[in-house]
Amino acid sequence: MTDQPSLTLNDGRSMPQIGLGVYQIPADETAGVVQAAIDAGYRAVDTATIYGNEEGTGAGVRARDETIFVTSKLWRDDFGYDAALKGFEKSFDRLGLDWVDLYLLHWPFVEQDLFVESWKALVRLQQEGRVKSIGVSNFTMDHLERIIHDTGVVPAVNQIELHPSFQQVELRAFHDENRIVTTSWSPLGQGAALDDPAIAAIAQKHGRTPAQIVLRWHIEAGLVVIPKSTSPARLAENIAIFDFALDADDERAIAALDRRDGRIGPDPMSMA
Ligand code: NAD
Repeated sequence: MTDQPSLTLNDGRSMPQIGLGVYQIPADETAGVVQAAIDAGYRAVDTATIYGNEEGTGAGVRARDETIFVTSKLWRDDFGYDAALKGFEKSFDRLGLDWVDLYLLHWPFVEQDLFVESWKALVRLQQEGRVKSIGVSNFTMDHLERIIHDTGVVPAVNQIELHPSFQQVELRAFHDENRIVTTSWSPLGQGAALDDPAIAAIAQKHGRTPAQIVLRWHIEAGLVVIPKSTSPARLAENIAIFDFALDADDERAIAALDRRDGRIGPDPMSMA
């Protein structure tokens, strides 16, 4: 079992810095993978309405006697003030847990332009104690400024695409100024980061795997990481990163991998 770090959110609560991401894990396999992850030492899980596996996530958490930090997200169909209140209740029922730790607006869905109203609903849910912490995902600086301006409530987290080829330096600086924790989605670049020769060289130097190097880099940068795996061996590998450190040469080599066009997922401005 590993001694894992946590980060303090701007609402005073604490969030484990590493968790399991369950995107693309089939609904009927999710409970088993979540249990395997908990057995491997994970204390956080990241799901979403659109992943279709909130039930399995909740079942996996309920099957183990550990306190697990659970994140889920609201999808486009449930955007709008009243719709978001109802959408959260549906997530809550599917998860079947005593509480939800963190609930996010999954994307700003700019064409629809209902993210401010939806954010107001999340603020109310938090005030009423229905959800512990609230945040967003895939928000740009403009979207963040807009919800902060309109509600005065700063999201606890912005979950964004972030890996060595796409490091989001400017947005992270904005997060830091506003006390928003950054969660890195696709932290391994969906596996692509692991084939990079610079990462391979650092891995060899430390006697670690490329995945461990990349995940350690996120942790040292103060980011939350939610790598996805269904294999018990990789679940264990990905969390065995708290007994070594990168050095200044490693940091420089990984910083040099950042690319303007390094995005692998959708651009938030084009996600309708
Ligand atoms: P990831 O970067 O976690 O990569 C997953 C891939 O890497 C899988 O193919 C897996 O088999 C492989 N892998 C994992 N560990 C490995 C290891 N040790 N060695 C070799 N290969 C390994 O990509 P992801 O699944 O896209 O992202 C992780 C999580 O981020 C998702 O499950 C989800 O929770 C979240 N996410 C959020 C959004 C969003 O819009 N908010 C979008 C995408 C993903």
